[in-house]
Amino acid sequence: MPGNWEAPGSGTCLGNWLEDGHSFLFFTEPSDRVVENLLLEYPGLELLDSYSMPYEQWQGDGVRPFTVGPVHVVPPWLDGEAPEGARTLWLDPGVVFGTGLHPTTRDCLRALVEFASREPLGRVLDLGTGTGVLALAAAVLGAEHVLAVDLNPLAVRTTTNNIALNRMEHLVRAERGSAPDYLREPAGTLVANIHYDVMKDLVASPGFSRKKRFILSGLLRGEVGRIRAGLDRAGILVVAVREWENTWFTLSCVAG
Ligand code: SAH
Repeated sequence: MPGNWEAPGSGTCLGNWLEDGHSFLFFTEPSDRVVENLLLEYPGLELLDSYSMPYEQWQGDGVRPFTVGPVHVVPPWLDGEAPEGARTLWLDPGVVFGTGLHPTTRDCLRALVEFASREPLGRVLDLGTGTGVLALAAAVLGAEHVLAVDLNPLAVRTTTNNIALNRMEHLVRAERGSAPDYLREPAGTLVANIHYDVMKDLVASPGFSRKKRFILSGLLRGEVGRIRAGLDRAGILVVAVREWENTWFTLSCVAG
């Protein structure tokens, strides 16, 4: 399936999420006819399943404005007025993970705000960027430059759209790629809200410890201890641990 295919007729196609050799097509409304035609046109394709649900339900906690420190995140269809001292960050999550409301993302944002209040973030590498929410927040917080990476082409497209919404093309770049391939990129701050299987390999890679500051999240209770042991081996110090309901853990770390 081409990555940015647009469906003719009935529901508008919001995107094609590619993962592990599967395509997840998102439409604004049930589009059985469009899918049937697609299957006829591409005989190699097979329909495995289809679901219908409201947008807010797909995004779990819904999509709504929130503020973390000086960053006020707002979907572009709502009023963007920021509280005093904060700056508006427009974010259209589309169907991708990263509204900013998930506890791991919120704790990453808090950790970014805290690091940025102490010293400049420098160049930032955001591995597993989703909608680009952390990358864009880092730019608002004064990052010199941000490279936002995701394996999922739809996430890269969503992030590119959000970069444009905020006119941050000069500061933030989104690229499709696999996180471990980016460890050679120079960065003062590395942010990764990514699942354990990827995180454990990142932490064990030689390029990992060459950064100054790290914000690592997406870790469940049973995983965080193993990641901390890997950080120890790499000579990286954990300076703050944030947790949500003893389930999700976020680590702020510095090079030892
Ligand atoms: N940073 C966002 C999104 C986190 S979700 C936030 O904090 O809200 C994790 C993201 O990691 C997903 O978008 C997923 O596509 C991406 N991902 C998973 N494995 C990856 C890999 N090996 N390399 C790069 N990105 C990956």
